[in-house]
Amino acid sequence: NPVPDLLDRLRRECADADGGEVLATIPELADADPDLFGVALCTIDGTVYGSGDDDHRFTIQSISKPFAYALALADRGRDTVLEHVGVEPSGDSFNEISLEQSGRPRNPMINIGAVTTHSLIGDPKLSLEERDARVLAGLSAFAGRELEVDEAAFESERAEASRNLALAYLVHAQGKLDGEPHDAVDGYTRQCALLVDARDLAVMAMTLAAGGRNPVTGEQVVPTWVCTQVLSVMATCGMYDASGQWMSTVGIPAKSGVAGGLLGALPGQVGIGAFSPRLDEIGNSVRGVRAFEHLSAELGLHLMHAP
Ligand code: GLN
Repeated sequence: NPVPDLLDRLRRECADADGGEVLATIPELADADPDLFGVALCTIDGTVYGSGDDDHRFTIQSISKPFAYALALADRGRDTVLEHVGVEPSGDSFNEISLEQSGRPRNPMINIGAVTTHSLIGDPKLSLEERDARVLAGLSAFAGRELEVDEAAFESERAEASRNLALAYLVHAQGKLDGEPHDAVDGYTRQCALLVDARDLAVMAMTLAAGGRNPVTGEQVVPTWVCTQVLSVMATCGMYDASGQWMSTVGIPAKSGVAGGLLGALPGQVGIGAFSPRLDEIGNSVRGVRAFEHLSAELGLHLMHAP
């Protein structure tokens, strides 16, 4: 089969991209082996191919944001979510204060917007635990298997949450947070500590790219309009302040996380997952970015490429 060979070769070609640093600010992540490198691809018929450390588990971190956004949209509707969180790229780092005049966070892919989005998941009356359960079940449905939380990573990040708490308090002061700042940050931090591997990311991406139907389990996880909205925001905001450059060089709606994960979803075509812990200055996986650049060029995946 040509796909596994392609992924193996891709990994070899990208292995010399050994710049960047493993994230040092979350103690539990700082110990990651910097040389880990896995890639995986899921097709629309639910076949998953992988290479290298494609079954090594790591915390999903910011890659949870598009899925949490999907759940909030599905649970509360587009209008309510848009009242609280915008859809404009911020051009700022992922943990910046980034608010519009109206007090809305600029988008759901940066921390300030993601904490806000988390507060919009499920019924407004849900307890903290019930909302956590909704997030766990929702992201598991996207992955097609029961995910679990890395409790050590969760505790370690919760102990260092002052910056996210400050962001949540700001949004709360603007009247755009649904609930209490501590609850929103607690739940958001737990959401970020879910464990996945590159194969899970590929399936999750393909589910988004297939209009919400998980190609492995056949479950319709969220309505199709939700995926259109999520992919649009990923395309414009998913790679933080490198989103414009990413769109021009790779051309695939994508989302990165600080543990080194990277997910790309090409509508109607393919879901791609990559994992390698060393990050560039912006917080995107160095080898992950390189792997996507190669794949996009080699398979002609760029969305704006006229066939
Ligand atoms: N949990 C991380 C944070 O809130 C996620 C950030 C990221 O992956 N960019 O800072």
